[in-house]
Amino acid sequence: MKYISTRDRSKTFEFSEVFIKGLADDGGLFIPETLHEYTESEISEFKELGYSELAKKIIHPFIGNFTSEDELSKIIEKSYGVFRKENVIELIKVGDRSVLELFHGPTLAFKDVAMQLLGNFYEYYLNNANEKINIVVATSGDTGAAAIDAIKGKKNLNIFVLHPYNRISPVQRKLMTTGKEKNVFNIAVKGNFDDCQNLVKSMFSDKEFSNQINMSGVNSINWARIIAQSVYYFYCYLLVEDHKQPINFSVPTGNFGDVYAGYLAKKLGLPINKLIVATNQNDILHRAISEGKYEATHVSETISPSMDIQIASNFERLIYDLNDHDSSQTLDDMKNIKQNGQYIINNEKLKKINKDFLSARMSEQQTLDVIKNIYEKFNMILDPHTAIGYGAFDKHNLKGNNIVLATAHPCKFPDAILKAINLKSDLPEELRFILDDKENYGIIENNLKKIKQYILGKIK
Ligand SMILES: *Cc1c(COP(=O)(O)O)cnc(C)c1O
Repeated sequence: MKYISTRDRSKTFEFSEVFIKGLADDGGLFIPETLHEYTESEISEFKELGYSELAKKIIHPFIGNFTSEDELSKIIEKSYGVFRKENVIELIKVGDRSVLELFHGPTLAFKDVAMQLLGNFYEYYLNNANEKINIVVATSGDTGAAAIDAIKGKKNLNIFVLHPYNRISPVQRKLMTTGKEKNVFNIAVKGNFDDCQNLVKSMFSDKEFSNQINMSGVNSINWARIIAQSVYYFYCYLLVEDHKQPINFSVPTGNFGDVYAGYLAKKLGLPINKLIVATNQNDILHRAISEGKYEATHVSETISPSMDIQIASNFERLIYDLNDHDSSQTLDDMKNIKQNGQYIINNEKLKKINKDFLSARMSEQQTLDVIKNIYEKFNMILDPHTAIGYGAFDKHNLKGNNIVLATAHPCKFPDAILKAINLKSDLPEELRFILDDKENYGIIENNLKKIKQYILGKIK
């Protein structure tokens, strides 16, 4: 499979470059030139497969000769062997919908599913190449922990994680900052998540700096993450008994990565009816999908901090599709967004979006109410992100199998749970040690020069 950039179709790339670079040199996002669509009978043949075997089937065509099939199997088995569930995920009936639990990995959020695989891809790649890589990534809380767990202790790799100072939950922070491995560096930036993301983007586009440190990125635009995430949509579909009814997914959304993976699964032939883009009050994507106005405003802090985002990086991939794969139009649109902070989606394009996507926005109170109701009715605690996905179905009257992606374990967000139901949500036994362990992180101004100096100082 060959890849192109959303901003320039004229050049093609191999998977290894797409994976290591993350972002194309022209600022665009990598995307496959063409996709193979599975037939219904091909998909039903996947039914007997365990999670890892299915992952191998779905992922293999995307990576070309990056690894042999055998090596890919080993990498996948190693990646998913660290999960607490044999088949990685679980589908649980909760009232009139189902909850797809994706948080049984080492850092208790769905991001482990993709990140464990990436960590092992890096290790494999560096075993065969003679180089050192420095990963730099911004996090709103969960990406950082998942990336650190996947990279820690690996040879020829360092990881630098930028998180917004005082804006992630203490449990999220401790999952990142209590490790003892020498190749992990945490930086608390005095700013918000978008500031962190902008700092990382600036470092990437500064070719002198990014080449000097051989920089690589694992944020949600990395195509390898998207393909790893599309696997669980397939696996979930195969778990659902009743295929006569339509299947809808509601996806708690920030950077449009997870829900885009669902859209990719649909493009690969998986019969998904609608994907609901569920947001908190940072609702740029809800405004885009319901009113046709993609326009950044300020970011406000919520009880679902992993979705406190105004610039949804992966949205560019959808814009490219809306432009019928016209990359120069996409380049113009992205320039316009940068200049005017706005992208107006006309009616024709909006109709196209609504064939696949609906959206919903949940206020803080509505989110707390969902947590309370679900707890009272079913004795189950949803994390605030998942609660947003659950509640989003109430704003649309969709028939069929309605599935909510459960993106994090509630114990990562104890303040929200306490507020909603006056209960403490405990960490799983094996993770309690992080609560008392010594933390290690630097606190730095929202200043590109200072961050670069810090990184250069650490890798000398
Ligand atoms: C990252 C994250 C999200 C948002 O996922 P995107 O791929 O950025 O849309 C939702 N919930 C949780 C718990 C997360 O960590």
